[in-house]
Amino acid sequence: MEEPGFFFGALSLSSDEEEGGAGGCGTTGRRICEGCDRPKKNACLCSTFPAGGPIELRGGKVIVLQHPNEKKRKLATVAILKKVLGSCDVLVGRQFTAERYPVLAETLRLARDGSVDVFVLYPGAKAESLEDLAEERRASAEGDGRRWVLIAIDGTWQQAKEMFTFCRDLLLPRGVENARRVELNRRGGGGGEGEGLLLMTEPDQGCVTTMEAIATAVSIMEGGEAMEEALLAPLAKLVSLQKGFNPAVKARLGVGGSKHTKTRRSRLKD
Ligand SMILES: [Zn+2]
Repeated sequence: MEEPGFFFGALSLSSDEEEGGAGGCGTTGRRICEGCDRPKKNACLCSTFPAGGPIELRGGKVIVLQHPNEKKRKLATVAILKKVLGSCDVLVGRQFTAERYPVLAETLRLARDGSVDVFVLYPGAKAESLEDLAEERRASAEGDGRRWVLIAIDGTWQQAKEMFTFCRDLLLPRGVENARRVELNRRGGGGGEGEGLLLMTEPDQGCVTTMEAIATAVSIMEGGEAMEEALLAPLAKLVSLQKGFNPAVKARLGVGGSKHTKTRRSRLKD
């Protein structure tokens, strides 16, 4: 699989909707839902969150290495992921070292002594298939009981590449068999049927969002399709909301145009 097979990035919605979303509310007076940090009217995602609270994984957890720019994005999918997946740590930074991020050092220490499998989700020629590794684990009594940690990178392709290059030796130390670079055989979200949810920043490169990649990876490790569906339900709703937000509707509502239009609209509201 040549790079980039897929990459991890934030869900990219049109700038109009982005401005009309959570961030625009302070100025226009739209109410923000406390459950999902989205506008209460027409954009709330709470109905898609698991009824019993964020899902806790039985045998593993996810660590997301997030580029600071992704955190700033109002529609970053990792923020939504945190609402549905409890077993998930998000570390924000560009350059990850053992000194600055003890949780990474500890995770790799556990990989070194063989008590944890670390899967670094970063596609490329040297990556192994996560599906195959998961099968192997299930087939061996010892592997089946071992805990696992999935490490994913959240950023544009270029950011992810720089972050991975910087911390490759930390995450994939030479000689540590239990720390492996992995990729997904199929694309996230769509299950390989070409019917993905995908709204991507660089669609021509076959990207999936971080959230989709993580949902697929977690469902491979445990939980299966039901888990994947539960994790992706908010994203599905987000996409359907955007589809409903077509240009004709925007024009009629007066929200599709320039900042000028927006300003006028909020003045009218005031
Ligand atoms: Zn909500």
